[in-house]
Amino acid sequence: MKEDDIKTLADVREGGQCVIVKVNGHGGFRHRVMEMGFVKGERVTVLKNAPLQDPIEYKIMQSHVSLRRSEASHIEVVAMDDVTEGIVPDSNGTFSESVQRRITEKTKTITVALVGNPNCGKTSFFNHATGLREHVGNYSGVTVSSKVGTFYKDGYTINLVDLPGTYSITEYSPEELYVREYITEQHPDVVLNIVDSSNLERNLFLTTQLIDMNVRMVMALNMYDELEGKGMALDDAQLEKMLGFPCAPTNSKTGKGIDHVLDHIISVYEEADEVTKHIHINYGSEVEGAIGKIKPLIMEHAEVAVDFPFRYVAIKLLENDSVTYKHLEKHIGDVSSIRQVVDQCRTEIEAEYGEDMVSVITGIKYGFIRGALAETLTKSLDDSSDGAYDVDKILTNKWLGFPVLIFFLWLMFQATFSLGAIPQGWIESGVEWLGETMRNLLGEGMLSDLIVDGIIAGVGGVIVFLPNILILFFFISLLEDTGYMARAAFIMDKLMHKMGLHGKSFIPLLTGFGCGVPAIMATRTLENPKDRIITMMAIPFMSCSARLPVYLLFVSVFFENHQALILLGIYLLGIIVAVLTALLLKKTKFKNNSEQFVMELPPYRIPTARNTLLHMWEKAVQYLKKMGSVILVASVIIWALCYFPTHNEETDKIDALVEATESDSSLSQEEKETKLGELELSRASAQKENSYIGQMGKFIEPVVRPLGFDWKMGVSILTGAAAKEIIVSSLGVLYHADLSADEESEGLKTALAAHRDSDGNPITPLVAFGFMVFVLLYYPCVAAVTAIAKESNRKWALFSVAYTTMVAWVVSFIIHQVGQLIF
Ligand code: GDP
Ligand code: MG
Repeated sequence: MKEDDIKTLADVREGGQCVIVKVNGHGGFRHRVMEMGFVKGERVTVLKNAPLQDPIEYKIMQSHVSLRRSEASHIEVVAMDDVTEGIVPDSNGTFSESVQRRITEKTKTITVALVGNPNCGKTSFFNHATGLREHVGNYSGVTVSSKVGTFYKDGYTINLVDLPGTYSITEYSPEELYVREYITEQHPDVVLNIVDSSNLERNLFLTTQLIDMNVRMVMALNMYDELEGKGMALDDAQLEKMLGFPCAPTNSKTGKGIDHVLDHIISVYEEADEVTKHIHINYGSEVEGAIGKIKPLIMEHAEVAVDFPFRYVAIKLLENDSVTYKHLEKHIGDVSSIRQVVDQCRTEIEAEYGEDMVSVITGIKYGFIRGALAETLTKSLDDSSDGAYDVDKILTNKWLGFPVLIFFLWLMFQATFSLGAIPQGWIESGVEWLGETMRNLLGEGMLSDLIVDGIIAGVGGVIVFLPNILILFFFISLLEDTGYMARAAFIMDKLMHKMGLHGKSFIPLLTGFGCGVPAIMATRTLENPKDRIITMMAIPFMSCSARLPVYLLFVSVFFENHQALILLGIYLLGIIVAVLTALLLKKTKFKNNSEQFVMELPPYRIPTARNTLLHMWEKAVQYLKKMGSVILVASVIIWALCYFPTHNEETDKIDALVEATESDSSLSQEEKETKLGELELSRASAQKENSYIGQMGKFIEPVVRPLGFDWKMGVSILTGAAAKEIIVSSLGVLYHADLSADEESEGLKTALAAHRDSDGNPITPLVAFGFMVFVLLYYPCVAAVTAIAKESNRKWALFSVAYTTMVAWVVSFIIHQVGQLIF
């Protein structure tokens, strides 16, 4: 093969050497091979390359690597075949002049494709940039043509390609297909996306498709004069940070700004540009879920990803794009199994949204655009409105947005607590009835104790809160489904930035009031892994609904006249600690974390009852699973720890007294009964104190003493590890086993109020408050810790447990000690 014919790494024969001058293809592919060491200027030796060999073996940076032929063909090289004289590098590692010249020539040639809507000023840009050095070339096989012009700048040769104007890159018109093929097959080094700045909303649609294709990009904000002429203003520094590529204002008519754009092109080409980052448009949980399902199917076929990113292929397949299917068939052959999965995903999403897939994706893309523009574009006052989104003017308004948000949140919590109280009463009586019925059925005995006191009381005590949780989840689903949640995130963005978070963290944090598990999973919508960690660490302080029963219990006993106020204070304290935690992490571990992201404003949708109920159900199922597993098992364990050992020295003494009393004929029947009742009570408490859980409680008592807690409180706190609701069940078991079943619901309250410690002191409101605060702040339940480990890693899960517990202890300690001084 003649040296001039060798263009890519795949062409270099076995034993040959070459220097890499360019890596073509989309960002993901380039990133991968560059990580393997295939970077510009690097020398490669071909170890094995037979005509049908695949993969080909190379030596680069002292290590052996193999590349598929399809991958190698995307890497441009200059050959240094030692058969041709004088091109082996000398002892200093420098190349002979002729090779060096060829390398420089190739690495300093940039092909730039002009992509944009019709009439956005591409040709004007082209003419200005190229001067008169353009020439018109027709590419074979297509009716549409493109012009190529060559010019020089700062030692670079720039080939500018003026592509036909398109509004989108799909498969519906020859122009669109042409542009698409040019980008994916000719691999321009940089795509220059020209937009009409006075009409950004429509022009950016094409841009969102280029983002999906993950090409290296620069944007010319053309017709900037018209944007300004219309009285609008654009924060382009902010826009480029959010979009992840440089954007510069231009006027193609006068040539203003063009040079600046060319500078950007060179720095993007040299990977020296600071703005550039690869962003994903967030398509929402349904579509992202489908992408997540489809991607692994095509990832089995790595060769597909040489031309297109997997994510792009998955999106296109969902859109049922025939060009992509043809491409897949070429590489994989039979695609019917993939098609089956894709079709099913599509059917599900279309049913969910009630519109076809292309409309769904288009709608979300416009949501991304609206979000980006809402933060960067200031429209003039007399701007004609865009109809459906008028309501955004109120909901995301600087002044009105916040009160509206507060109102919705108030409504949500109000409904959760007051509306939930009604079915709560029904469930309570149901549980009570079931317990009595079982007791009557089974009679006295251990089995009956286990079922009634262990299982029914334990699970029943928790299941009463199901209505509250369903209502809370119903509201959260409703807010998400209408599209309001995204607006809420938008409003909160500035505030969240102040605490080192991103507006999108608001949704997971809010969900945290319901349950930490879905909240931690919801952090997936955050692009930045650091934001995700910070949010996950803050979520446990958002008081989850499982803690609510504890507050309700203590507030009603100890703060009868200020219930709402104390409850609000507890929630606020949680929020404050969450904010401080975020700030702390931001200031220490995650410094310099100031990336900007687009806050999508998805289309408003009228939620169907079916969808909202379905989403609520999905969230509730997690809660119900917890009932059936963790809470059930924990109830039984706690019951057993309390139940055994059934007797000890103390109880034996009491038992002897009981016998003596029963046979004492000097007492009247009435006196006997009172005496026996008293003895039974003291026997129960003696048994409990020496039960396994009592021993555990005594053991940890020194740790909780400084907080003013007794061993019973300490034990209940421990048991909260399984689930926070269990704290109430434990308190119930520990404080009021001496009350009969028909007093069940009121029993624990009475018991707490009547409780006296060994010195005869009651539980003070101060201790009760400290206890609530401890419960608010200390370690998350097993399910939440597991979720953190799954979504980040074990280290962070452990950190969360240690950190929250430490904070809880310190804050409760301060409250108790300072409180004692004051009261
Ligand atoms: P193309 O279809 O994208 O190639 O767009 P053209 O280059 O043909 O330009 C379309 C029209 O917009 C022409 O009349 C240009 O003179 C005009 N135009 C191009 N750039 C600008 C600009 O920056 N400002 C203004 N006001 N007009 C421009
Ligand atoms: Mg043109």
